[in-house]
This record gives sequence, C-alpha cells and structure tokens, in this order.
Amino acid sequence: MTLWVNVVYILSALLFGLGLKMLGSPETARRGNLISAVGMLLAVTSTLLHHNIVDFQWILIGLALGVFVGILAARFVAMTAMPEMVALFNGSGGIASLLVAWAEFQSQQVIPTSLFVPILLATLIGGVTFTGSVMAFFKLLDLTSLGWHFGKARVFFGQHFLNGLVLTVGFGLSVWIVLQPRPNPTLYMVVIGISFILGVLLVIPIGGADMPVILALLNSFSGLAACAAGFAIQNNILMVAGTLVGASGIILTRIMCKSMNRSILNVLFSSFGSRTTVVQEGVTGKVQPITAEDVYYLLEAAGSVLFVPGYGLAVAQAQHAVKELSELLEDNGSDIYHAIHPVAGRMPGHMNVLLAEADVPYDRLVEMDDVNPTMETVDVVMVIGANDVVNPAARDDEKSSIYGMPIINVDLARTVIVMKRSMAAGFAGIMNPLFFNENTRMFFGDAKGSLQSVIAEFKH
Ligand code: NDP
Repeated sequence: MTLWVNVVYILSALLFGLGLKMLGSPETARRGNLISAVGMLLAVTSTLLHHNIVDFQWILIGLALGVFVGILAARFVAMTAMPEMVALFNGSGGIASLLVAWAEFQSQQVIPTSLFVPILLATLIGGVTFTGSVMAFFKLLDLTSLGWHFGKARVFFGQHFLNGLVLTVGFGLSVWIVLQPRPNPTLYMVVIGISFILGVLLVIPIGGADMPVILALLNSFSGLAACAAGFAIQNNILMVAGTLVGASGIILTRIMCKSMNRSILNVLFSSFGSRTTVVQEGVTGKVQPITAEDVYYLLEAAGSVLFVPGYGLAVAQAQHAVKELSELLEDNGSDIYHAIHPVAGRMPGHMNVLLAEADVPYDRLVEMDDVNPTMETVDVVMVIGANDVVNPAARDDEKSSIYGMPIINVDLARTVIVMKRSMAAGFAGIMNPLFFNENTRMFFGDAKGSLQSVIAEFKH
C-alpha cells in the first residue's frame, strides 16, 4: 500500500508543478488552478489509504469542518477582504504544522536527531507563522472606527535587540533540547511560547504599504513549516507541497520588494508604516473637478485611453463597468489598454483577478515597465480608485515615505482623470500631488456609479 501511496504522491507532485507553471499566464491560470486542486485531491485521498491511519473519525470531522468553513469563506468573504483571508490561511498552515510536530514529539520516547531537527523547525516556523499571521490579520482589518489603530507600525526602543535576543534564545534552546538524552516536554513548550512571541514581534513593526510583503513572507514561512513537518512525519507529499509553497512565497516576496524598490531587510527592520502621515506637508494646490459629461467629451475625442485600476475598483466592484466603457471606446476607434501595478489593490494579482472576472481580454493588459516609456503619447489616462501606485512623489520627492517605489507615471500622459470619492489618502496614508496637477481632472464619486454615468453619456 505504501508503494501505491507514494506513486500517487509523485503524480500529485507532477500536477502541482504543472499547475504552478500554468498559473504563470492569465490565459492558463484557471486550468492551472484546477490541475493543482486535482493533485491535492489525489494527495489527500491517497493519504487516507495510508496504513498508519487506524481511526477515520477525527479526520472526517476535520474534513467536514474544513469544507463548511471553506464554503462559507468562498461565498461570503468580499474580494476586498482577501488579504485578511490570506493572512488567516497562512496562520492556519503554520499552526497545523506546529500541531503535527507536537503530535510527533509526544508520540516518541526517544527522538533521533534527524527527526528532532525538523520537529523543532516545524514548531518554531509554524508558531512564528501563526501569531505573525494573526497580527497581520488584525493590522489589515480596519478597526480605526473602534479606536483600535492596529494598522500602524509599532516601534519601541531596543526593538531589534529584543527580536534578536528572542530569536537567539529560541534557537539556542532548540539545540539544547536536541542534545538532551530524552525529549523534555517542558522545554518544548517554552520553544512553542518563544515562537508565538517571535511571530508577534516580527509583524508589529510592519505597517503601511509594507503589509503585502509581510503577507508574502508569511506565506513562504507557512510552506517551510509544512515542509519541516513533512520531514518530521516522513510524508513525501507534505515535503514537496511545503517546498513549493515556501519557494513560491519567497519568489513573490522578492517580486513585491522589487515593485516597491525595497529590500526584504529594509521592509522587516525600517518600520516603514510608523512614519506615514495622513497629509504630506507641501502637497496642496487647486483641484479641478470634472463632470461625467466633460469626461465623455474628452474620451470621445481620445485616440488612446489607458485605464489604471486600483483598490477603489475592488471596493466599487466597477470591473464590469470598466469593460463596458472600454468596449464603447474601442467601437469609437480608440486604442484601449489597462495597466496594472504589481501592488495595486490589496493582494498580489488583485486587479488581474477583477479584470479577468469581467472578461477584459488579456492582450489589453500591459505591464508597468512596458507602458511607462510610452506614457507621453497617451491621450487620456483613467485612474480608477488607484492612489499610491500613481503617486509621483514616489518618483520625485525624496522626503516621501514611499520614495523609490516604482509607479505608473500617469502624470506624464496628456490628460489624467482620477476617479475617487474624496481627497482621502490611499493605503500609505499620504496625499498625492497628482491630484493638483495642471493636466489632472478629479472625477469625484463611487467608481462604478461614475463609470456608469459616462457610459450613459455615450449611449445618449
Ligand atoms: P490605494 O489604497 O493607494 O488607494 C485607493 C483609493 O481608492 C483611495 O484613495 C480611495 O479614495 C479610492 N476608493 C476607495 N473606494 C472607492 C470607490 N468606491 N470608488 C472610487 N474610489 C474609491 O490603492 P492603490 O491600488 O493605488 O495602491 C495599493 C496600496 O495598497 C499600496 O500602497 C500597496 O502597497 C498597498 N497594499 C497592496 C497589497 C497588494 O498585495 N497589492 C496588499 C496590502 C497593501 P477615496 O476614499 O477618496 O474614494
């Protein structure tokens, strides 16, 4: 039986790899997701046939609970709350690996070093991932109306020293436990406690626009913890799946850091979000509002129109209205493109998912690096609920807290129409000088309603 289980595991691993490869392109991503899910189904069902399993009762209860929670989450969690959900998923992965390691620890009288090391790694990384993700969850939840300002980065004197000390004690204690002749449950519990404290300490100094990076990093940690748990219980598919999650999480972390022009060490140790202010000094001027009718005249005459979606598109659920307007413009003879910034929205690929849902053709999507060099030739840019990712201060103002983050240079286009409800700041909490530019028109209102009013003008 074990042979067959391992054969199915190899097949599952191949399906995971193929699925991941297909996720690399929007055209094949849906099929890739399905193929990976089939791989996971095979892996789970073949694990259930494993001879070590003697009682299915708890497994079935767990499965039923998981399916129930999964269905509820899929049906009721809003698209805008995805980052919070991802944080909870990462945390669940971390605590699951810790529990697997703990169970393995308890089931052995004498643990060989080759088994003890992965048990402790799964415990440490799993614990950090769990409490770190719970912290990230609360930071992402906007609880300011309740007077809780979790979102900001918290810094205090000696923070890095304390983090280093706790990390060193955690590792030192782990080495000490391994060197003992018999497993010591009390010391093991202390390691669990230290891992929980480390997770909290890791995430509290993170805030502002760095949250996506820490989410990607915690995702990677959850994979590494699962991989270590796989070694601890000698389960091949857990090792493979954990490695894939760990590796893809770290690749994503690198991509996010690059998109913000930051290094991972800078993200972890610079306490970025603690320095942001709601309004940046010196960013003032005259705002030029515009009506739906005037937007229509501008668009009607435009040879090229670039849509730049941001978080507000997700809030307004305006993706179908964007699709409808872009079709009308195409029929009118304009060249239409949609430029997506890598950290637009609140999770990696957020905007891609929304535009794909509205069936915006993939060949109409352009990358930031491809569109920026041609920006001066674009007649009209429609910024739909984006703010930080089009903030020229990131390019021009060395004092800005987002200085260095690559942006879509919409301010260089001939005319920019910014759609948002007010002059409020975006995620990074800073004012955007783009709103006061000579070539910018502010189209105030909910993005979906505003787009629909322009569509109505076209259909007049
Ligand atoms: P921002 O958060 O900078 O700005 C969004 C804008 O949308 C706001 O200024 C808001 O203005 C407007 N808005 C909100 N609701 C609506 C609505 N219904 N209709 C119209 N406009 C609306 O978004 P960006 O996408 O530009 O930037 C993403 C930010 O989030 C970056 O700082 C990034 O680092 C961060 N981040 C990204 C993650 C990711 O993985 N992509 C994860 C976590 C954070 P107003 O209230 O006036 O309407």
